Amino acid sequence: MAARKVVVRRSRLAAGRRPKPQPNGRTRASADAQPGVGVISIRMYRVGFGDCFLLSLPVNGGERRHILVDCGVHARGDIGSIDRVIDDIAAETKRKLAIVIATHAHQDHISGFGKRADVFSTFEVGEVWLPWTWDPNNPDAVKLQAKHAALAAALNDHFQAANTLTAAGSIAAAAADAVVNLSGNARAIDLLVSGFRVGAKVRFLKAGDSLGDPAGVTGLSVKILGPPQSPEFLAQMDPPAGQHYLRVGAADGDEGTRVEPFAARWKIDTAIGDTMTRLSEADRISLEAAASSPPEELAFALDQARNNESVVALLSYRGKNLLFAGDAQYGNWRWWLDNEKPDLILPEVSFFKVAHHGSVNATPKDALERMTDGGFAAMVSTQGTPWPSIPRVPLMQRLSEKTKQKLVRSDWLPVKGAPTPASGSLPRAPGAPPPGFAQGALWFDCPL
Ligand SMILES: [Zn+2]
Repeated sequence: MAARKVVVRRSRLAAGRRPKPQPNGRTRASADAQPGVGVISIRMYRVGFGDCFLLSLPVNGGERRHILVDCGVHARGDIGSIDRVIDDIAAETKRKLAIVIATHAHQDHISGFGKRADVFSTFEVGEVWLPWTWDPNNPDAVKLQAKHAALAAALNDHFQAANTLTAAGSIAAAAADAVVNLSGNARAIDLLVSGFRVGAKVRFLKAGDSLGDPAGVTGLSVKILGPPQSPEFLAQMDPPAGQHYLRVGAADGDEGTRVEPFAARWKIDTAIGDTMTRLSEADRISLEAAASSPPEELAFALDQARNNESVVALLSYRGKNLLFAGDAQYGNWRWWLDNEKPDLILPEVSFFKVAHHGSVNATPKDALERMTDGGFAAMVSTQGTPWPSIPRVPLMQRLSEKTKQKLVRSDWLPVKGAPTPASGSLPRAPGAPPPGFAQGALWFDCPL
């Protein structure tokens, strides 16, 4: 670990916590320790159920350039920290971000941009990276979003109407929470697509793209691994009628327990939004067919499809390879595992932003197993609210083994009133962060 004495402006969040001996005799890394000159650092914030990562790259002359990867929290997993997190980002970066990556349009990844548009509008931003599926000039993307929006609106109506009948912890409640995640993102999307209205260059990225020295960060090279653009992938985004992501309890044809999902509302040929087209007749018919599936199943399928839109970026800088996987689920991974060179990429990964909060469906075994034992660090932004199945315990244990304990979970950061890891959740929070890592009130820093 390089010397950690370089004094960089301290943020409000960093203030107040001092190194103190831990029960195990180790000393917690100082919260005001700053990455040494030449050290790449990744800060994971505790936002609740969501993602917010700040990557800090050293450049010549002692300066640092910053890349923000997502900034959002799910309304049902919100621990009330996002405002303080955004203040910290402003202080750390002096309101200068070389690149903002919004991996996909889920509330838990982008809500902060909408909620604090006032703050972000005061930033200097070089580039904004979004998935190709949000390109308003791409007819396939526009059509896809129109379909998703129509289905999300119908599901939203359904779950709101069914709200009083929904038992907490039920599949219906989990499905309703998935629909919440799809909603209310228009403001954030507008701001991102506009380049924060500060003239940032907006790139719509797809699997296979590569970028050299983006935003003038000399020496940074980027390979985009997802989302793919193949027709097969587009087909996977349609809510599958018979392909079950999470099987709902009712047997097929059991009308007694099946909920009629759609009011007549969605059948009306409603304009979806300013930039969205109207549904075609063919889309309307395919949605109508899909509506014979249980609404919970549709909700999960739509959620999965949106996750599969995630920008997956491999950032290479000064010999380190950082894999930011967004919420990529199986389809997104599968495409690049089959079409890129995973045997060259994965063993060389130095840092892994664990996909989809450590859920069961987001880090394929054959990807994680090809990463080098002890050769990488991993961060997972997670908590068991609103979905108790997240994070997946066996995946967390395997990540801990593979990284040789260079793993941190955001829910290990104690925040008043916020959920703590479930009692059976392994590995347990260590007494101190892994060697070299630093901890603040709302973040872990991982040096590379
Ligand atoms: Zn997410």
